[in-house]
Amino acid sequence: MKRFDFLRILGGTTLFTSMGMIDTLLSSFTETDTTMPVLFIGHGSPMNGIEDNDFSRYWKKLAGEIEKPKAVLCISAHWLTNGTFVTAMDQPKTIHDFGGFPKELFAVEYPASGSPTLAEETAGLITSTSVGLDHDWGLDHGTWTIVRHMYPEADVPVLQLSIDYAKPSSYHYAMAQQLQALRKKGVLIIGSGNMVHNLGMIAWDHLNDAYGYDWALEMNDIFKKKILERDHSALMNYQTLSTAAKLAIPTPDHYYPLLYALALQGEKENVQFFNDTAMAGSLTMTSLRIG
Ligand code: ZN
Repeated sequence: MKRFDFLRILGGTTLFTSMGMIDTLLSSFTETDTTMPVLFIGHGSPMNGIEDNDFSRYWKKLAGEIEKPKAVLCISAHWLTNGTFVTAMDQPKTIHDFGGFPKELFAVEYPASGSPTLAEETAGLITSTSVGLDHDWGLDHGTWTIVRHMYPEADVPVLQLSIDYAKPSSYHYAMAQQLQALRKKGVLIIGSGNMVHNLGMIAWDHLNDAYGYDWALEMNDIFKKKILERDHSALMNYQTLSTAAKLAIPTPDHYYPLLYALALQGEKENVQFFNDTAMAGSLTMTSLRIG
């Protein structure tokens, strides 16, 4: 059947909508032979977004090692919502969601495009809940401080998936598993947070030092051990791992993005750690690559 005949069958009044629908289908993300890796990245201070340091240099290096994605989908610790949403605008704005930093950081704009098509596909993959298409958010610093080092030309579309903060670990893990098909479609999924993250206990005299309190280092070791053992259920029940967990994760916002990455680990896929460093006493930058 010719496209014109098909459109005529759809009927005059719905023609405009239907053409939009067909164009969406034609530009849909197609399956490829490769499976994209999945990353969890400790983003740490927003200053990493403009600093040339060990962390940001590694992000840049990593991008060179990974096949260039068709899009990035980031689960950032800084987009906490009631319900789940995916950014669905053509052109997401750069959000400067922090205070007390130099003007230079507020001046950063990261002009990557979005992808309404991929947003719809992502929402369609998740069957455990209804995912809303968002037109208000954009790219918060959990996303752009990393991605601008990886893709400085801003030539890869970037989307964010929000974290429903009313829901427990098991809910996030189960939902993340439903994103698996995107890895076959050239989408790089990044969880962006920090495994150990307690801003209330920052060691101000070690603000820029690779220094960790004993409890932070203890939890960092426990997390890595459990990750290597693939004991995801223990990691979901992080409160029971050690008494130090209360200090390491006073609130789970920066921890949940780790669960999104782990949920996507295939049976034969190993984990490689990088940026395995404590900072300012109560943070770890420990990050991982799967696949
Ligand atoms: Zn953060």
